[in-house]
Amino acid sequence: MACLARNALLVARKSLPRCATQFSSMPDPIEHATGLEKRELLAKVAGNDNPFDLLVLKRGPGTKENPNQVPSAFDSRILGCVCEEDATAVNWMWLHQGAPKRCGCGHWFQLTYKAPV
Ligand SMILES: [Zn+2]
Repeated sequence: MACLARNALLVARKSLPRCATQFSSMPDPIEHATGLEKRELLAKVAGNDNPFDLLVLKRGPGTKENPNQVPSAFDSRILGCVCEEDATAVNWMWLHQGAPKRCGCGHWFQLTYKAPV
């Protein structure tokens, strides 16, 4: 009985390196990606972890003369303002190129052009 268990362990040990070899030969996802997905992966490889500017931005003063800058490669973008620190709802609004907008909380936002990924 002990001999069978020892043989099973030996078989399991022998199969481990083979499994590891199979995993190391998995193709790189960048080789299979195309179009926008490939450009996103290449941007991440180049060190840009936020190529589409989807992470939360910290608001600045947000005055009419010095509005918060919101990057976009398009003519308009949806923006969500968390008006108060403890707010449980986000105030969503459209922001258009060349038309700074004021949120209900008083902060101003302006769309700035950013080259597409
Ligand atoms: Zn707001």
